[in-house]
Amino acid sequence: MTYHRLKLILAAATILAGCHSGSNSKRTEIPSSNFVTAAAETKPVPRDAASDAADDPAIWINFSRPDSSRIIGTDKQGGLAVYDLSGHELFYYPAGKMNNADLRYHFALSKDTIDLLAVSNRTDQSVDLYKINTNGSLEVIHQQPLKSRLKEEVYGLCMYLSAKTGKYYVFVNGKDGAIEQWELFQVADQISGRIVRNLKLDTQVEGMVADDEHGLLYVGEEKNGIWKFNAEPEGGDARELLTRSTEKENPYIAYDLEGMAIYKLQDGEGYLVTSSQGNDSYALFERKPPHQYLGSFSITDGIATDGTQDTDGLDLTSLPLGKDYPAGLLVVQDGKNKEAGVAAAQNFKLVRWDSISVKFNPVLNTNKP
Ligand code: CA
Ligand code: CA
Ligand code: CA
Ligand code: CA
Ligand code: CA
Repeated sequence: MTYHRLKLILAAATILAGCHSGSNSKRTEIPSSNFVTAAAETKPVPRDAASDAADDPAIWINFSRPDSSRIIGTDKQGGLAVYDLSGHELFYYPAGKMNNADLRYHFALSKDTIDLLAVSNRTDQSVDLYKINTNGSLEVIHQQPLKSRLKEEVYGLCMYLSAKTGKYYVFVNGKDGAIEQWELFQVADQISGRIVRNLKLDTQVEGMVADDEHGLLYVGEEKNGIWKFNAEPEGGDARELLTRSTEKENPYIAYDLEGMAIYKLQDGEGYLVTSSQGNDSYALFERKPPHQYLGSFSITDGIATDGTQDTDGLDLTSLPLGKDYPAGLLVVQDGKNKEAGVAAAQNFKLVRWDSISVKFNPVLNTNKP
């Protein structure tokens, strides 16, 4: 072999090695049989097309009028938006750099109960709490913002309602892998909180979801996989990595992992869904142990809506939301939104669960009321 030829081979090897380092290192496309399209999309957040702005949704169910349920979406450049199920923006609050949002129902406050939204606010390094009104509008309900003690900026967030104690919690994390667990309680006519536990993973985390019925917390370590913890404050540090949730074990996972949500069925059955940003797809696991990996799907261009790329946050409900979403709804952030074929500000896509469930073999279960 000539020196020149050796140099060429070494250069090619370097380029290949480069392709296999960092994010998007593995990109196995999802089979087209597992492509779905969105049924609707929200108005873009009020930023330009180049801004990484929309981040994480939370679906609020209107139990007396399910088709008037709402999507609350964060704009990490400076606010919170509320949309109806057609994607129209109903309210926008320039409340700070809101990153992740989650909610729980029926928090007992004075002589009433309220539906409660928690948001990580990177402007104030805090968790902010809002009451959700019946039209979906939001009202600050914290006594003062819950000031995080994380060394890094507040980032991922989820809520947890303990089936064991009836207590409400917020988990909030920072990019260094540190997680705070806050217990929420009433003070005067408002809500305050205290840190009851700290957890730590080795590298960057963001997406989290709690499984209230099973008392579990799932945390996505972006460059690794999905970790499972006991969600109770006295649950300790014990953790378990979900099988086939890492690139190493699963060709359909491509870092980063981010948004996570649960599709709940009766008897504790259901599915755990996570965003696999590196190949613009979503991976699905059984909700119950041993959390078998069931497959992945992608959301591709449809007639009225573009497909999704680089999804950050997502939320999912199994409750029927009117005739458009009879088996539930998945809402995902779209990192590369297009409007009439032209790059636009980021937004959120709405996908029928029954359009996803039929793409799997065997077909996924749906919540049939
Ligand atoms: Ca969320
Ligand atoms: Ca994010
Ligand atoms: Ca991200
Ligand atoms: Ca898109
Ligand atoms: Ca679009």
